[in-house]
Amino acid sequence: MGAPFSRRWFLLSSAMASSVSGLAGIDTVAHSQSVPQRPGNLLVISSGNGIKAVEKAMAILEAGGSTLDAVVEGVALVEDDPEEDGVGYGGLPNADGEVELDASVMSGPTGAAGAVGALKYIRNPVRVARLVMERTSRVFLVGEGALRFALAHGFHKEDLLTEKSRQRWLQWKEELSDKDDWVAPPNKAPQKPERPQGTINCLAIDAQGDISGVTSTSGLAFKMPGRVGDSPIIGAGLYVDNRVGAAGSTGNGEANIKVVGAHSVVEFMRQGRSPEQACLETLKRVVDLYRGTPPNLSFYALNKSREFGAATLFKGAKYCAHDGSRAVVRESVWLLEKK
Ligand code: ASP
Repeated sequence: MGAPFSRRWFLLSSAMASSVSGLAGIDTVAHSQSVPQRPGNLLVISSGNGIKAVEKAMAILEAGGSTLDAVVEGVALVEDDPEEDGVGYGGLPNADGEVELDASVMSGPTGAAGAVGALKYIRNPVRVARLVMERTSRVFLVGEGALRFALAHGFHKEDLLTEKSRQRWLQWKEELSDKDDWVAPPNKAPQKPERPQGTINCLAIDAQGDISGVTSTSGLAFKMPGRVGDSPIIGAGLYVDNRVGAAGSTGNGEANIKVVGAHSVVEFMRQGRSPEQACLETLKRVVDLYRGTPPNLSFYALNKSREFGAATLFKGAKYCAHDGSRAVVRESVWLLEKK
């Protein structure tokens, strides 16, 4: 198969275009979006679904809490929201109709990390990831072992599938094929064939320059049971270096794992790139890897100087930022545009 849409994509940013290889047929358009920066003492950023998370995280920082408390509890609030279908309680389930959650956390001041993958029945994987970090000598627990660990720490099992998510899964299952035994009800309008993705990434820096980050997700909707994406993988879905900055991602997990995205963003910042440029440089690696047909992916980053930014492969992503005065939602800069 070739790249059916590549001729209709625009590579935005002439600087980017000059160094992206293997993109025959993609038009280039000069593009630059300056992101106003308001350096202050405290800063929290998140993916576009994190407005409540940045507000909660900022309130924790202003009350004297650590960046770790701020990002974990900010994201836990979104995990609790049944209307947020890509994270925690109410997240869209796997192909068998079971919700499996992934999360990671990193603390800059200690350099510690924790993660859980394919965790069932526990609505706040971010809190379990924190406990893996603080209460084990390991970094990553998955599946049944992660669940047993959570139960040992007093978490309670609950059904994470809301009625709304169950209905969406059932419709997906019934419309999947006309060669299986599942049949859609008559007169029901088919849903869009896409499988939504959704994840929250949240990063914070405090007045001392300490940085922490979290990424949490229910993963690709209707995924293969046991499939784990980038979100709980330290270096892919999240990376924090207290001397440099932090980065995280949302979007196609497989693409991100292959470029070890969040770590790459932090390394580009270490070399002197701004957060926004570091995100764009890493997205170029995805474009190079996939040649004409990259799946969508977004990065979010902040640095030690409290500059921040976000970039996405395809135009349309947003991110949130709170500098202590107010929370704003901004458009991420983009590399390619589907016309
Ligand atoms: N990155 C997540 C995953 O691949 C999904 C997403 O962000 O939408 O599991």
